[in-house]
Amino acid sequence: MTDSSVRVRFAPSNTGTLHLGGARTALYNWLYARKRGGTFVLRIEDTDRVRSTDAFCADILDTMRWLGLDWDEGPETAAVDGPSKGEHGPYFQSERGALYRPFVERLTETGNAYRCFCSADRLTELREKQQAEKASFRGYDRRCRSLDPAETAKRAEAGEACTIRLAVPEGETGWDDGIKGAVSWNNAEIDDLILVRSDGTPTYNLVVVLDDHLMAITDVIRGDDHTSNTPKQILIANALGLTPPRFAHIPLILGPEGRKLSKRKAQFQDGVKVEADVAPYRDAGYPAEAFLNFMALLGWALDDKTEVFTREELIRDFSFDGVTKSGSRLDLKKLEHFAGIHIRAMEPDAIADAVTPSLVAAGLVSEVDAAGDKRAAIVALAGANRERLTKFSDIVEKASFVFGDVTEYDAKSEKNLLKNEGAAADVLRKYAVALEGKAPDAGQLEEQARSLAEEWDVKFGQLVHPIRAALTGVAVGPPIFDVFAMIGMDAARERLTRAAAWVDERRKATESSS
Ligand code: GLU
Repeated sequence: MTDSSVRVRFAPSNTGTLHLGGARTALYNWLYARKRGGTFVLRIEDTDRVRSTDAFCADILDTMRWLGLDWDEGPETAAVDGPSKGEHGPYFQSERGALYRPFVERLTETGNAYRCFCSADRLTELREKQQAEKASFRGYDRRCRSLDPAETAKRAEAGEACTIRLAVPEGETGWDDGIKGAVSWNNAEIDDLILVRSDGTPTYNLVVVLDDHLMAITDVIRGDDHTSNTPKQILIANALGLTPPRFAHIPLILGPEGRKLSKRKAQFQDGVKVEADVAPYRDAGYPAEAFLNFMALLGWALDDKTEVFTREELIRDFSFDGVTKSGSRLDLKKLEHFAGIHIRAMEPDAIADAVTPSLVAAGLVSEVDAAGDKRAAIVALAGANRERLTKFSDIVEKASFVFGDVTEYDAKSEKNLLKNEGAAADVLRKYAVALEGKAPDAGQLEEQARSLAEEWDVKFGQLVHPIRAALTGVAVGPPIFDVFAMIGMDAARERLTRAAAWVDERRKATESSS
């Protein structure tokens, strides 16, 4: 399936942060290119000078990097200025104005486009009239189309303001869509759209056609919301004598409530707001690989059973054949499922790396300690919780007893400590002594505890439950003998002794009040 001549692009406008729909478009383009050994281009469509910002651009680039969707050409790559690929740059649309000029000239020369001198007032009047009459066709009435081109050229030269409009021919415009199959539009439904504004700047549809041509794009893969632009863009390419690329339109993503996922109107799943942007999922601590798996399946399936894919498997298996024809519904449970699977397959060291930012952000450990003194504790914590995380930030709630002291016990822990007339106090004290000189090795510690329980003639549970209460303060947590490596032997012994003292005090207090 290799075809290194394939060139695809992701062309976000930096008028907002990267949303799920955009990221999935990027992913499908990337998979398509990587599978074939082709080129993935990132082009920033920043022509809306009012709404485009550097911050949005940074969000898009950062988020794509987080997802590992690396681009071969685009901003911040060698290819921007590089000798071999530089001919396709710049990759910011706002810097490409000069490249468009010769094409704009060509448009009117061929008669496939014409100058329009209609004033803004006339166009507004026309629109209002069409609305009032509920006209089936709403658009420009083509008044200037019949003007003599030589005459209009003169008027333009003399400085009269005009736009340039596409002269949409009669007939049909169709294409063989990589996903939707044969698509055809009646040209009668297509407006003689403006290609060049009166200030000389080209409009979106023209610029996309020119950029795709100049960047030698072979395949345009984008959201279904662009399908209605495609016949216009094909007509523009035809008007310029250019060969249009192949097109494939991906169905939209639906939120859990069944409506199109959008930033404007939030949707909820089990009371949880479903984010339409990508960055919040990263910030919540989902692994990028799991998120990629999740996004890939929002509109694509290999078969009716396979759900878990690595990045390499996605590259191998992705094809338009598996892209669904209608929108697919987002389900956060799937993301959690993939994230859990992904984390379980990671080494404790890698989990430790991934959870550290959450621990630092929660103020549980400093960045310096996380890389130094506390690193071993974090690795132990990560390993012990491997089965319990669906996102890296889940570690925070499981880590407080590791980095902070245990100052109170939850209800069940209290009960475990106070059971059997406070016998736990004695057991814990003896146990703290027995730990002297021991290493925090979970296997050896468990073995020792079993023989101690036998020696002291107590049930294993009578030893282990109070230990858990003493060391963690909560009744549910990771395997208890793993906890020693997380907190260290000295702190462990101190907590055991402190819990014993707490039991004594509580018993004294109850006795004196009864
Ligand atoms: N800049 C357009 C957008 O953000 C995409 C244009 C295209 O893919 O052709 O929706």
